Amino acid sequence: MPLPKYNLPRLKGKIIALDGPAGSGKSTTAQLLARSLGYVYLDTGAMYRALTYFALKIGVPPSDGVKLTTLAKNVSIEFKTENDQNNIYINGEDVTTAIRTPEVTRAVSEVSAHRGVREAVVAQQKEIGKNGNIVAEGRDTTTVVFPQADLKIYLDASVEIRAQRRLLDMGKLGVSTTFEEQVEDIKRRDDFDSNRRHSPLQRAKDAYYVDTSNMTIEEQVEWIINLIKKLVK
Ligand code: C5P
Repeated sequence: MPLPKYNLPRLKGKIIALDGPAGSGKSTTAQLLARSLGYVYLDTGAMYRALTYFALKIGVPPSDGVKLTTLAKNVSIEFKTENDQNNIYINGEDVTTAIRTPEVTRAVSEVSAHRGVREAVVAQQKEIGKNGNIVAEGRDTTTVVFPQADLKIYLDASVEIRAQRRLLDMGKLGVSTTFEEQVEDIKRRDDFDSNRRHSPLQRAKDAYYVDTSNMTIEEQVEWIINLIKKLVK
């Protein structure tokens, strides 16, 4: 998608954080926003997914908080920009595609709900963002990872619209699924992510709220860029 590069000279070293439920458009919006601002893009969900993929591969069940915490402290998770794509590696293995399978999606909310897992992963996220120049997105980037973020945004959309978007994403990845399955999955993850004890998904008091149900991705990015322009004036 051809988006202009914005020259916002006062926008150096800042942290922009976007949270919201599955399918609210966070990933694509954050990625395009980062690209147009010349910032690093941090997909925090991909880190929990990579850990989940690895745990399933070596036979650690999603319920085993102790083993998962040890794993989270000892694996190396890295992002690499290759061919304009944001790829993710765990212990040197490229898992960019493998972390999007229904098996990983089904298990990730349980894995990411363990306190020890969150502490280990959040510490890595804070380290990645310590110099700013970052657009981070996830469930707790505005509240726990970067509570000091310069701009916080909460993206939302109706369950049906989010399921429709996920269906399209899955189609692009060649994963066969139905609209009904996506509605079910989104409702289950919304419920799990919003009601867990540690760092539940919630809207930060100082976050701008955007309902993206009737917006295209380009409109979402434009909306945020216009907001940034007003804020840096
Ligand atoms: O954003 P994505 O849908 O890829 O995230 C996958 C899962 O990872 C979420 O459903 C949630 O359970 C977990 N997650 C989290 N905290 C974050 C990002 C994602 O718990 N900051």
